[in-house]
Amino acid sequence: MTPPATTPTARLVIIGPQGSGKGTQGARIAEALGIPAVSTGDVFRANIKAGTPLGEQVKAITAAGNLVSDELTGQIVRDRLSQADAAGGFLLDGYPRNLQQVHDLDAFLASRGESLDAVIELSVPREESIARLTLRATEQGRTDDTDEVIAKRLAIYETETAPILDVYRERGIADAIDGVGSLDEITQRIVAALSARGIARPAAV
Ligand code: AMP
Repeated sequence: MTPPATTPTARLVIIGPQGSGKGTQGARIAEALGIPAVSTGDVFRANIKAGTPLGEQVKAITAAGNLVSDELTGQIVRDRLSQADAAGGFLLDGYPRNLQQVHDLDAFLASRGESLDAVIELSVPREESIARLTLRATEQGRTDDTDEVIAKRLAIYETETAPILDVYRERGIADAIDGVGSLDEITQRIVAALSARGIARPAAV
């Protein structure tokens, strides 16, 4: 079978449970493709650290492992994707996280005549996620990495986020990637899945 012609855009989403390594892999893939990685969790953490009004607004919510409102999160994503560097593509990490956010993102992209090109589903067994999160808690001291909050975040992932994968699978744009292995192996798996869809870094001109 001939692979599809290289698409000029790479509008991507990476989805996986907390501790699946989606942040690390998302950053690597974005860099490899020359597109910005947009992590809603990073935006919230940076605002909390800087003590901005947005940070104050979301501090308690994120610390408890709950989801920030769809309106607020959607606005942040729309603002970021409207910046010039995201015109040819982007990699969203941590958004969308529920069905409402899937609809909001679709509507925003459709209003610009765009749509998602691929959704990377990074899967790791639950015990592995928990082990990685617990390790990260000691290394980075994240306030939302306590045992109780980890359990809450994984539960929210299973009830609210996992169902959105069905939507993307039905559209035929989801690629399931085994998230267990070395960092390089996993990156290679994702790169291979994307190139099979014709998504690759544009040749330098
Ligand atoms: P993350 O680093 O992606 O796990 O995000 C950290 C926290 O930020 C989450 O536990 C939520 O409180 C909040 N957050 C990040 N992305 C979203 C989103 N798409 N919708 C709602 N809340 C979010």
